[in-house]
Amino acid sequence: MYQIKFVIIPFFFCLSCAAEKTDAGWWQKKADMMVKNQLEKRGIHDEGVIRSMRETPRHIFVPENLRDLAYEDGPLPIGEGQTISQPYIVALMTELLELNGDERILEIGTGSGYQAAVLSPLVKKVYSIEIVKSLAERASEKLNEMQYHNVVVKWGDGYQGWAEYSPYDAIIVTAAPDRIPQTLIDQMKIGGRLVLPVGTYFQKLKVVTKMRDGETGEKNIIPVRFVPMVHSEKTSKEGSKFQISE
Ligand code: SAH
Repeated sequence: MYQIKFVIIPFFFCLSCAAEKTDAGWWQKKADMMVKNQLEKRGIHDEGVIRSMRETPRHIFVPENLRDLAYEDGPLPIGEGQTISQPYIVALMTELLELNGDERILEIGTGSGYQAAVLSPLVKKVYSIEIVKSLAERASEKLNEMQYHNVVVKWGDGYQGWAEYSPYDAIIVTAAPDRIPQTLIDQMKIGGRLVLPVGTYFQKLKVVTKMRDGETGEKNIIPVRFVPMVHSEKTSKEGSKFQISE
């Protein structure tokens, strides 16, 4: 009797493991709950943003040992002392860009590549800059593997923007500078929107719009907490020439 139980129990256990691993959609239920409980309840309403948040596999962009937590209501570490933002903040910043599908977007702070993946189906092209080389390489590989073909990642310093493809329709910054970088305003089209956190300890999420006369308008959205946008002499000089994927 005992012997039979011993054989049968692990057998069923392994079957369920295998089913879970091969069930490509296990995460979709979690993503649906995330959208319902974390995004829609807090007022995210842009249909494209909601669709992209539901369809982008966030667990692929976090370290393997944290995959179970990928759809929880918070940021997660991604290595090198950096974090992937809370899903609500990713959705809010994407909604604030007011996208219509034709845009060429610049992202500063590629990190895991998740924000770029969320933007990918909503725009024509995403140019993304990351200052930490290992993160830039990893994100680029992942985005390529997952066939996000309209995303290009560069290892470089976001304070310099990416002049080659400017002006951009919109710019999103996912690390916090202590003031709004003028270079980014310069690389934006008239009528363009810059969505970014600004500040050191106390930060505000802002939307900056560039007007016809070159003036800017500024709106504060909510208090936020992002990793700082850093300056790095060495990386910026080498990085400005280093393009990882096209
Ligand atoms: N958008 C990311 C989260 C980014 S965390 C995601 O979806 O995962 C912020 C990132 O900004 C970090 O990876 C950090 O290394 C990067 N960063 C900080 N200062 C930067 C700078 N000057 N230029 C480019 N990237 C920078």
